[in-house]
Amino acid sequence: MAIPHRELIKKELIKLLASRSEGMKTSNIYVELAKVFPGLTLSECTERYRNSASKWANTVQFVRADLVDQGIIFRPGNDIPNGIWKLIPHGINNYSRVIGIKSIDVPANPEVIKTYTEEERVERISKIIERSSKAREICLSHYGYACMCCNTAVKDKYRNIQCHIIEVHHIKEISLIQNVYSVNPIDDLVPLCPNCHRAIHTVRPCYEINEFFDMYIG
Ligand SMILES: [Zn+2]
Ligand SMILES: [Zn+2]
Repeated sequence: MAIPHRELIKKELIKLLASRSEGMKTSNIYVELAKVFPGLTLSECTERYRNSASKWANTVQFVRADLVDQGIIFRPGNDIPNGIWKLIPHGINNYSRVIGIKSIDVPANPEVIKTYTEEERVERISKIIERSSKAREICLSHYGYACMCCNTAVKDKYRNIQCHIIEVHHIKEISLIQNVYSVNPIDDLVPLCPNCHRAIHTVRPCYEINEFFDMYIG
């Protein structure tokens, strides 16, 4: 296959970066992004223009330059280390309608931010986000009402229960922007049944989500 259209790469790059809150290194981006397009062969990814970078790397760099100009990813070396590509948390809102990723700002109580240690603070803010009804609604409409860990849909275990019994869990590192927390309900939240949710929070900080899935024995 030919190297995909830049607009297509742009959407995939945003999705990729949206899943890595800490940002990504350039070399990893070339590799990870190429995997999104299974038709792309190794030689297409490494074939070079004259003496410069490969066509693939060049195209991805053009896409990055566009996204920097549009205020969607950080300008290299400005606010983050050189060689790291990272979404501007609010920048994703500019693009959300196009790619279908919605980011929601959850205002945090400033008292919560100031009074506690970093670990307690992150935990408290996670709770605020988990209770944000809009973020919860988008997460559940995307993933459904079964627990992502044990696959239980609690409602179906009983006769005559009228409402879903499910909680959402916040899995990502939290970024603070002027007392407002930006959450992507699809990448940052997962549905967990009350039991699993209780279990993941039995340590502080809570278990990392994949580690927790591995712990599940049924
Ligand atoms: Zn569960
Ligand atoms: Zn939780």
